[in-house]
Amino acid sequence: MNTRIKWKQGLLLLSFLGIITNAISVETHNKNEYPLGFYADDALPNQTVYLTFDDGPSDWTDEILDTLHENNIKATFFICANWQPKSKTNRNSFIKYQETLERMIAEGNVLGNHTKNHYNLSNLSSVNIEKQLDENQQLLKDALGLKAPQMTLIRTPFGQPWMSETPPEVKIKVANAIKSRGLVMMWSRHFNSNDSKNWVKGEWYEKGKHIDVDEKEFKRKMLEIYNRLINRSNGKGMVILFHDTHLTTVKILPEIIQTLKIKGYHFATLEEYVQWRWRMDSKNLIMLSNPDKVSKKNK
Ligand SMILES: [Zn+2]
Repeated sequence: MNTRIKWKQGLLLLSFLGIITNAISVETHNKNEYPLGFYADDALPNQTVYLTFDDGPSDWTDEILDTLHENNIKATFFICANWQPKSKTNRNSFIKYQETLERMIAEGNVLGNHTKNHYNLSNLSSVNIEKQLDENQQLLKDALGLKAPQMTLIRTPFGQPWMSETPPEVKIKVANAIKSRGLVMMWSRHFNSNDSKNWVKGEWYEKGKHIDVDEKEFKRKMLEIYNRLINRSNGKGMVILFHDTHLTTVKILPEIIQTLKIKGYHFATLEEYVQWRWRMDSKNLIMLSNPDKVSKKNK
């Protein structure tokens, strides 16, 4: 009986490994430089939008959550505990926005690791890259206790080292530090909303007095974000990069969602993407693709 169960488990493991090997074998990237994950040109299911929000939480995150909730949409948030210059967070956004984070989780959104300080990881040592991820995770646990999820999806700050011509050894360094901690999740080529560029006067992480949403500059930026994304949506799947740190994003998001819905898109989280592509959740995928780390931990 026992042998039979073991045999069955072995077969199950083999079929999981087969899925991983298949997924890796169709990759065009060198897997030493590109750990498992989603990169700019990877295939996505048609008519599917993955909304992602980086750099929060901030004063604007709750309004983004309102919009998602009203539309019955779940998104993926790549969060940072301590990204200066958030002056009033006392260097810990997770404490300041504890309720926002709890709501994010309760409403079914996925939390991903965007590192603690938002440094360009290309410039850090392996140990410091690991610290940036582990400390961010620990601060989430400190703030939320048992409610804190293990953040198994990672988006590196500025998308580096994979967003520019970086020497292979730098990519390998970052890849090795990351791969047992999470899956790399970039955004689709041409689907950076650019909301973090061309800042409008008064836009900041914290609510200020200076923002006039009727101002010409503010409207220009909203239209720019809208057009950039909508004009390029052609029925193919897309991972959109937003930042929940800008009022322009808050204000234009409902219209973007509305238009995409009319165009027949549906919305999903990047955890759902992982299940679509690898037929298992991110936690199991990381464990199975890093057998050395797992067996070391068990020893
Ligand atoms: Zn960022």
